[in-house]
Amino acid sequence: MAEIALKSLAHSYLPNPTKPGDYAIREMNHVWQQGGAYALLGPSGCGKSTLLNIISGLLEPSSGEVLFDGERVNSLPPEARNIAQVFQFPVVYDTMTVYDNLAFPLRNVKTPEDRVHERVMEVADALELTPHLKRKAKNLSADEKQKVSMGRGLVRDDVSAILFDEPLTVIDPQLKWKLRRKLKEIHQRFEITMVYVTHDQLEASTFADKIAVMYEGQVVQFGTPRELFEAPNHTFVGYFIGSPGMNFIDVSLRNGRVMAGETELHIGREIAKALQDVRTTNVKLGIRPEFIEVHDTAVEGSMAVDVEHVQDLGTYSILYLKLGETSLKARIEEEQDAPVGKAYLRFPNDRVGLYVDEFRVEVPHE
Ligand code: ADP
Ligand code: MG
Repeated sequence: MAEIALKSLAHSYLPNPTKPGDYAIREMNHVWQQGGAYALLGPSGCGKSTLLNIISGLLEPSSGEVLFDGERVNSLPPEARNIAQVFQFPVVYDTMTVYDNLAFPLRNVKTPEDRVHERVMEVADALELTPHLKRKAKNLSADEKQKVSMGRGLVRDDVSAILFDEPLTVIDPQLKWKLRRKLKEIHQRFEITMVYVTHDQLEASTFADKIAVMYEGQVVQFGTPRELFEAPNHTFVGYFIGSPGMNFIDVSLRNGRVMAGETELHIGREIAKALQDVRTTNVKLGIRPEFIEVHDTAVEGSMAVDVEHVQDLGTYSILYLKLGETSLKARIEEEQDAPVGKAYLRFPNDRVGLYVDEFRVEVPHE
């Protein structure tokens, strides 16, 4: 069991990297605490597998340090790091039985046979592999093989951490849900540090207590699913988490008024005040579709918008709106009738985030 710390870590696959884009991992610091259930969430190509392979020792980072409980492990090979890794595609020995496949990691570290038996039976039970123990791995279906692969990752309870790299990709959707629950149970039972890589926000939030969102080789936010939803630290987190994602409105200050293009926004004065000190032109306001107040008629402080389209999703609807030149989405629940033609919006003060050069900045409340 271990705390895993990454210090000034960076990695490039190129021999002579120069610009930020040359790095698969851009300089970052991060700590996975002992015993946590974590997800590493981000789009394809953002560096998730690279980061996992650096932690497990399959890949040596270009610079920076990997520390397990404070000890530098950079030069230790994977075997010496005591980490289990489960990959996207099954890694099983085809000619061995399911039982022997599961027993392999234990026998490899000279575990007594009675203990091997105990653990194999326990893991087989958790993954519903018990009826298949005597079968040769080559005769299994793709998802059965992947379960064996996961079992091999879970079977040793003395590992420092288990790393899962999109392990459920080849598993069918129904079983996926079940296996995710299983993993969570196993985590609670054994309290092993687990890092679960995925590009699926639902998968991340059902498994993890805390999610690291990765974008262009960096962890841009590390927080609970709720924190990522309510206060995205970076515009990317706003877009990526939530369905649909957060609205971002390009704004500027003109004569003390907050403008979206030629349209004045009616929002709290503290935003205008905060904008006075901003020196860049890359300034956005962010508000989630769920948090926009939608009215049929004008109310105090509201902004008139055109309703372009209504998408009825049963228990709620998504409204596609135009505020001047800016497109917005708002979500209303089924109790509320969708407005026709025009609508009037209010942005509650505490739901509006200010984003300067893509990062959220605190707005002092008056
Ligand atoms: P993810 O797992 O998030 O999809 P990866 O870590 O696989 O992302 O890849 C991050 C970046 O590094 C991508 O731009 C990818 O093309 C590049 N990359 C990954 N593996 C290699 C490799 N072996 N050689 C060169 N470039 C690689
Ligand atoms: Mg990957």
